[in-house]
Amino acid sequence: MSANHRHPALLSTDPELASFVTAEETLQAETLRLIPSENYVSAAVLEASGTVLQNKYSEGYPGRRYYEGQQNIDRVEALAVERAKGLFGVDHANVQPYSGSPANLAVYLAFAKPGDTVMGMALPMGGHLTHGWGVSATGSWFRGVQYGVRADDGRIDYDEVRDLALKERPKILFCGGTALPRTIDFEAFASIAAEAGSILVADVAHIAGLIAGGAHPSPADHVDVISTTTHKTLRGPRGAMLMCREEHAKAIDKAVFPGLQGGPHNQTTAGIAVALHEAAQPSFTAYAHAVVANAKALAQALLGRGFDLVSGGTDNHLILMDLTSRGVPGKVAAKALDRAGIVVNYNTVPFDPRKPFDPSGIRIGTPSLTSRGLTAAHMPVVADWISRAVDAAAASDEAALTVIRSEVTTLMSAHPAPGLPLS
Ligand SMILES: *Cc1c(COP(=O)(O)O)cnc(C)c1O
Repeated sequence: MSANHRHPALLSTDPELASFVTAEETLQAETLRLIPSENYVSAAVLEASGTVLQNKYSEGYPGRRYYEGQQNIDRVEALAVERAKGLFGVDHANVQPYSGSPANLAVYLAFAKPGDTVMGMALPMGGHLTHGWGVSATGSWFRGVQYGVRADDGRIDYDEVRDLALKERPKILFCGGTALPRTIDFEAFASIAAEAGSILVADVAHIAGLIAGGAHPSPADHVDVISTTTHKTLRGPRGAMLMCREEHAKAIDKAVFPGLQGGPHNQTTAGIAVALHEAAQPSFTAYAHAVVANAKALAQALLGRGFDLVSGGTDNHLILMDLTSRGVPGKVAAKALDRAGIVVNYNTVPFDPRKPFDPSGIRIGTPSLTSRGLTAAHMPVVADWISRAVDAAAASDEAALTVIRSEVTTLMSAHPAPGLPLS
């Protein structure tokens, strides 16, 4: 067993921890992962992220570091930067932010002072914590004003955003979010930001892979700064990037280092470089379009089974389901689905009458299942499982969940995941 264990050194040094990793590999292999912010990185990204680049300190930027011995690290980071610039069509890229939240904090540091007004989408409407929401530092150190979506169709009302922006004149205006099933109109935001005199930030954490693959319009020509994580649809390691026009390059770089961070995580930078290389291949363009095709097919199949979807469907990788009409709270449904081998997260829906920790909806998405080669033809099966599991949750029918779990395991074992051992 230990000879062909995937992590022989880990197994011999720390068998307890090794057993957790192995169990997680099994869980990721056997389950249908529908959390829209998750994915499977390739074996190559996994390898790059676990190298001795880990051992190196390199505060600064390529060619201007505060530590010696950067011959190789500089090449790694410069390669990641060049690939990011090429893939997203931007003048400047900073690949050092530790994750999406610190990347956004760097944007505040670059362009605002504590107490300044900033504007973003409200968290319960689909925005991100770091867009000025109260419990986040970005909402307590800055004055966050928030826009939402229309009650009748679940979409952004650009006239309302404009009115609010002209009234509040935010220093920074964020577009993008974590639970937005519809295309973001970057041009509309750009004209609002220009009128209001705001720095416009497109936070494309969720949709970066779709943009790279041409399955969502690019913000590159319309915004001041693009902020993104690297680990969602982009299918890289956990990390983030900030991209901008030349005029903002200095401010962004200074904010990331030395403003907020010390040494960059070079092993992550290497993984990002590999992921960007993969995302530039024609197969990734096909992947991005397949993610969207799968999400649309899944939305159609769910509507056909009587589910209510926020905004009535999806344009991207993400579907927000309102379970009110099924009589099951989101958390109860999410936990039942988990027992059935289908991993989702419970989520607020716009104008949710329930509390954030016990909301009305669940949020699902297709990046992970598409990475395993599932196609639109599988989506009716997936919708059936979800429907049966939600009904089973309502009826407290554990046996039904067990049956679904075995069906899920059978299908997933026929579709091995990138980066995981074959079971
Ligand atoms: C995921 C996400 C982030 C934060 O990323 P972390 O890496 O979890 O800090 C920021 N903004 C948006 C829109 C996101 O979806």
